[in-house]
Amino acid sequence: MTTDPHRTPEANPGTGISPSSSVPGGVDPILQKALDGERIQPEEALELFTTTDHLLLGNVASRLARRKRSDRIVTYIVDRNINHTNICVTDCSFCAFYRRPGAEDAYVLPFETIAGKIAKTLALGGRQILLQGGHHIDLRIDYYEDLFRSIKKRFDIHLHALSPAEIQHIRKVSRLTLKETLQRLREAGLDSIPGGGAEILVDRVRQKISPRKCSADEWLEVMDQAHRMDIPTTATMMFGHVESLADRVEHLRRIREQQDQTGGFTAFIPWPYQPGNTELSRDMGITSPVTGLDYLKTLAISRIFLDNFDNLQASWVTQGPKIGQVSLLYGANDMGSTMLEENVVAAAGTVYCLNEEDIRRLIKDCGFTPQRRNMRYEFVN
Ligand code: SF4
Repeated sequence: MTTDPHRTPEANPGTGISPSSSVPGGVDPILQKALDGERIQPEEALELFTTTDHLLLGNVASRLARRKRSDRIVTYIVDRNINHTNICVTDCSFCAFYRRPGAEDAYVLPFETIAGKIAKTLALGGRQILLQGGHHIDLRIDYYEDLFRSIKKRFDIHLHALSPAEIQHIRKVSRLTLKETLQRLREAGLDSIPGGGAEILVDRVRQKISPRKCSADEWLEVMDQAHRMDIPTTATMMFGHVESLADRVEHLRRIREQQDQTGGFTAFIPWPYQPGNTELSRDMGITSPVTGLDYLKTLAISRIFLDNFDNLQASWVTQGPKIGQVSLLYGANDMGSTMLEENVVAAAGTVYCLNEEDIRRLIKDCGFTPQRRNMRYEFVN
């Protein structure tokens, strides 16, 4: 069953994947193959989207997740999102967060404001900040070098910063090679890279929703180079807009292939498009958010397909605490961040908020043991 009429398996030009009427026996042999430790193929992942047996998918995904982590621990991180600027020239149609240069509520945070947010994060036990922002035409590499050096001089904090799309933007406006850009950012204090800006790694989809953003190859190029420099990263997928189910599978195929080559992704984080206040919903009529079942199915198939990823995050920020909790039975082994601050999803009207105690309770209620972690998924107290 296809859970959303926007996204049919048949509508998949350009991905090279066809719906698998060619897979004999339906989903059972595919799931058995995964349980036997064999890698499933893209057309088989696409076939899994046709099943209405969500419980079976969740069961298999959950068993595969438990093979990676048999101690029934579910991790989470205490950190804060800081968006240093909302000024952006890229105009992604799904984004409610950005402002054009000169807009009344456009901002670049002064360093002291960023420092105040970091100090509060440390006071609450956080050891990491996730720093991301818009593609500001005037913020070149020297701005980020100064910012990162100032942060590291004042605070002992992990800097998980700048999505591949931002790094490609900084590289271009600074007229540097990608390697030089990453080297300079790392020397200034960059510790790891969040997997934002991936959306769907199919250029036909990217042309529709974010034509000025980096291409799928450019996004992967940053990850490839970062991993080869021993900079760990995460990977994301924002789905439920104009893509087909085959596009989702193609996205998974590309990150699995990258992980085979460089192994530097510490986690995969799928999350649905949030339509509130976006051009995509206003002008293109893409308004219906992904249902809870579609989210859980996509999460479970991600777990089954991505055999080389240890960690999958539940997206309670977009799905709410209840589906967030159920995600732990559909292949997720991590509850993500306590999100001491979140602006991007909130701009699209999503307002779920949990503190550390809430997250620990949700994990325990599901029969798991909560454990704080860092970006490398090492346990911390
Ligand atoms: S998603 Fe990022 S790049 Fe796109 S408009 Fe929003 S801030 Fe700019």
